[in-house]
Amino acid sequence: MQDSGKKGKIVIISGPSGVGKSTICKEVASRLKDVYLNISVTTRPRSKSEVHGRNYWFISQQEFQDHINKGQLLEYAKVFGHLYGTPKDKIEQALQAGKTVILEIDVQGAKQVKAIYPDSIMIFILPPTARVLAERLNHRGRENSKKAEERLSGASSEIAAAWQYYQHMVINEQLNQAIEEVMQIIQKSLT
Ligand code: ADP
Ligand code: 5GP
Repeated sequence: MQDSGKKGKIVIISGPSGVGKSTICKEVASRLKDVYLNISVTTRPRSKSEVHGRNYWFISQQEFQDHINKGQLLEYAKVFGHLYGTPKDKIEQALQAGKTVILEIDVQGAKQVKAIYPDSIMIFILPPTARVLAERLNHRGRENSKKAEERLSGASSEIAAAWQYYQHMVINEQLNQAIEEVMQIIQKSLT
């Protein structure tokens, strides 16, 4: 296959559940040129507010296993009891086309991607305080209180792991400011 020479870069955005990753990724993707915002596959049940093919591809355990067996996932991980994975072909096509690829994935997945694409830009989003994180999760109202509690208690270990692996940490207090910071990190890394 002919190689045009110009390849895109991967931007990994991680952070605890409810910190604002999806909100930030959507806005950043809308502001960048030549961008591909990944849609992951997951075995997590779809919530009422989510759309198949927009938020995720919601698939069965068997379908997920088939993707693994056929080598169709760039990375995958079990997060809060469900499987999540990044479809490989779309990412490779976007990179080949010179696009900036945005992956909103957890720390386990980020490590796998970094091993394959070492020049990936890694950004971890932090909440200003634990209380604010809890408020955002509750305000979103997607999980019941037991599931929300589970996600909150996972936040500290994810944050601790992130200190070792992420080049950039951004505190999402004021949304616009956090978006600006993420934009600046990406634009600087792309030049
Ligand atoms: P994540 O994708 O990290 O789980 P979301 O993007 O779904 O988080 O955001 C969780 C909730 O917090 C949403 O209701 C979103 O509108 C809200 N949110 C995101 N950023 C901020 C912010 N800076 N200030 C207040 N609310 C925010
Ligand atoms: P949620 O259920 O809140 O949408 O996502 C839960 C966690 O799974 C978040 O930390 C999110 O970043 C992570 N996640 C979403 N998609 C993927 C993926 O494709 N791979 C990995 N490793 N994690 C993912």
